[in-house]
Amino acid sequence: MSDAGDYKIIWNETINLIKKETDEQEFLAWFNLELQEANEREFTVSVPSMFYLDQIKKRYQAYIEGKIEELIGKRVMLNLVIRDKQSETPPENGEKSPEIVSFPPKTENSAPVQPSRDPHPQLRTDYSFETYVVGDNNSFAANAAQAIARNPGKAYNPLLIYGGVGLGKTHLMQAVGNYVHTHTDLKVIYTSAETFTNEFIASIHETERSKAAFKNKYRYADVLLIDDIHFLQKKDGTQEELFYTFNALSDSKKQIVFTCDRPVSDLKDFNDRLRSRVGQGLNVDLQPPNYETRCAILKKKTETLGIVIPDDVIDLVSKNISTNVRDLEGALNTLTAYVKLIGKPITVEIARQRLKDVFASPRQSNMSIDIIQRVVAEEFNLSPNDLKGKKRTQSIVFPRQLAMYIIRDITEHTTTEIGQEFGGKDHTTVMHACQKIEERLISNPSLESTIQRLIRNIKEYSAKS
Ligand code: ADP
Ligand code: MG
Repeated sequence: MSDAGDYKIIWNETINLIKKETDEQEFLAWFNLELQEANEREFTVSVPSMFYLDQIKKRYQAYIEGKIEELIGKRVMLNLVIRDKQSETPPENGEKSPEIVSFPPKTENSAPVQPSRDPHPQLRTDYSFETYVVGDNNSFAANAAQAIARNPGKAYNPLLIYGGVGLGKTHLMQAVGNYVHTHTDLKVIYTSAETFTNEFIASIHETERSKAAFKNKYRYADVLLIDDIHFLQKKDGTQEELFYTFNALSDSKKQIVFTCDRPVSDLKDFNDRLRSRVGQGLNVDLQPPNYETRCAILKKKTETLGIVIPDDVIDLVSKNISTNVRDLEGALNTLTAYVKLIGKPITVEIARQRLKDVFASPRQSNMSIDIIQRVVAEEFNLSPNDLKGKKRTQSIVFPRQLAMYIIRDITEHTTTEIGQEFGGKDHTTVMHACQKIEERLISNPSLESTIQRLIRNIKEYSAKS
């Protein structure tokens, strides 16, 4: 292996291998990579943006290095760089990959732009991309949602946005709907899984005609948004109906977006065919925002509300409320009401006093479950989702039990709440985990120092975030 041509061949071959192994959507989305330089030790490959760079590092770097190794029999480093915009070659034969979208994003849909369309009756107009603050915690989901809004039915189908309460699932899903509704004449339908269920049940008991009306309502959507599908657990009949609706829509390349409070793999009593169809789409998660993103969200909201909250108050709220955006908004509403009443700017002292109960609640103790899961997962080279999942291999079970034990030890959460945060496990599982760790502590006293070290890391991490 000596000249540049050889390296180019190896690279092309690597990409071919990857293309064969990955799903088409995934390949189009992520493998927009160009070889820039190569030598025996290192392949330098360019990507379209910082966002890609981060994601590819996280998700695919080791995989790609592995593929090169398969071909040439030795390990080389993959060095990722951001592509110079001018030298960028346009994508071939119309293939589009998602990119960070600037607003307003370009729409490729056939329908003309209709800026004067009335607001969509089922969507909140304030749930738009413009009002959605993008941070590390949600950039992947936000980019996917924007890609879909530009190209419904073409980019990723279905899209599943999942994550805990108040993290912006509904907002992001409705932003897709609002964007499509204002920029095209496509038919957008938004519904909650609960409403879908109620309508389905009502339709069963009615005439053939109203049954058909129910089916048609959803099957003629161009973009169907169904919120909170965890609600469908145990509702076999509705799941089945949704499965058919889903198939009808995806066969005709209509866009479907779901939200859920957990990964589909963690849903209980859920139709396997539906689970697998949803799983085959793009599944993206929302994490709680970090300190900087929390500040940015509060700033944006105060601007929208047209009220002035001094920076030191924003800082105070962001430091003390780390759970989710809904709680942040709740605190902001309390302050806004006060400012309006008093008619002068709020000070840190007053804010602290107004929000003291909120700040003191165990949920807001900065050691959030999420951070503990992250730190423990990292220690064992796992992801937080491994801890929340169901796998029972020893390499996961022990870290999972340890995380539960630490949460029980240093937070006020009940075993039921802890179980919930581990993919909806029962409180007895948490109690069992704590007992197991206590037993281990007796037989292996050095575990105590590991636990103490982890707790220190968690505290440091909390102070930073
Ligand atoms: P979920 O559906 O995940 O429970 P929501 O979408 O209802 O959460 O979000 C809760 C509140 O927080 C909403 O008012 C939403 O506008 C706001 N919100 C969530 N994430 C963001 C964000 N990234 N930027 C701005 N506002 C957000
Ligand atoms: Mg919601």
